[in-house]
Amino acid sequence: MMLLVVLLEAGVLIPKMVLEMVMFLVFAIVGGADGRCISLLKILMSNACIYDCKYCINRCSNSVKRATFTPREIADLTIQFYKRNYIEGLFLSSAVIKNPNFTMERLYETIFILRKEYHFNGYIHVKTIPRF
Ligand code: SF4
Repeated sequence: MMLLVVLLEAGVLIPKMVLEMVMFLVFAIVGGADGRCISLLKILMSNACIYDCKYCINRCSNSVKRATFTPREIADLTIQFYKRNYIEGLFLSSAVIKNPNFTMERLYETIFILRKEYHFNGYIHVKTIPRF
């Protein structure tokens, strides 16, 4: 909730779905390759997983609220935070939506928008989804 207040006060445009998914937004501090600490937006693209790993809160058999960002929503959120110097990079992961290929295409589209449309030069860590 504190994060939400900070975002709203900063005038960041947040789509309704993003507001609903604010529980997935985390700012992480990680060590960079040069040993320096950098701040990241750590975010799940989706928690609507088709799999049922017993240890995971996002397993399909668990009764939790489901939501999924579009690639454009994540790219917009990242670039807005980056321009305000809140973050230096993005840590992007996701549950498996529909199937691994579909999920990877959406993750790739997010990175493509950031790098090619928005010319985002910050750090990006992205999860690759293996075939099960
Ligand atoms: S595939 Fe990943 S997100 Fe889906 S249930 Fe297993 S651990 Fe959780």
